Amino acid sequence: MARYTGSVCRQCRREGCKLFLKGDRCYGPKCAVGLRPTQPGEHGHARQRKQSEYGMQLREKQKAKRAYGVLETQFHRYFEKAERTRGITGENLLVLLERRLDNVVYRLGYGVSRPQSRQMVRHGHILVNGKKVNIPSYLVDAGDVITVRAKSAESEHFKALREGSTRTMPKWLTLDAAELKATVSAMPQREDIDLTIQEHLIVELYSR
Ligand code: SF4
Repeated sequence: MARYTGSVCRQCRREGCKLFLKGDRCYGPKCAVGLRPTQPGEHGHARQRKQSEYGMQLREKQKAKRAYGVLETQFHRYFEKAERTRGITGENLLVLLERRLDNVVYRLGYGVSRPQSRQMVRHGHILVNGKKVNIPSYLVDAGDVITVRAKSAESEHFKALREGSTRTMPKWLTLDAAELKATVSAMPQREDIDLTIQEHLIVELYSR
């Protein structure tokens, strides 16, 4: 499957905000958004001009895609599914992205970033309701129980996590850190998603 292999910090600089793609570095003074707040590229300074309406809509879509590590075709499928779901399309879209298994693993604090969490899922470390699921885009449902494969749980990484996660847990997830057992206690709501994305602009973009 195609994936972006360039500099991830460049993506944050392009969007002008932190997308938290690199783990601990994102929370420290070395974050490129703080160090180099201009747009990437030779003419980065010159690009700080007023954006058109289309430009703003496009940037919001790119921000959401990049934060969750989803490519265009898949993102558009999420949008179509959000449109078919009852409720506000923009919110439905973000909720779908939030329900991805790689995002859940990130929210639980198992991975320092979504890319690392995705790798954990791909490598088969994560079980959903007792069954190995190595598909990062798997959508969790309320009541699902997320655990770590017994052999993986013996690794130093997971042993350290049993001491407790330092990540602030969203209220739709509950974690028994000692058992590395998480439960999706409810479906996520828009207010549970801490990303500064104006989802209505994404809806406007796709409605053109
Ligand atoms: Fe790089 Fe993380 Fe800062 Fe983004 S938030 S620029 S990925 S260090």
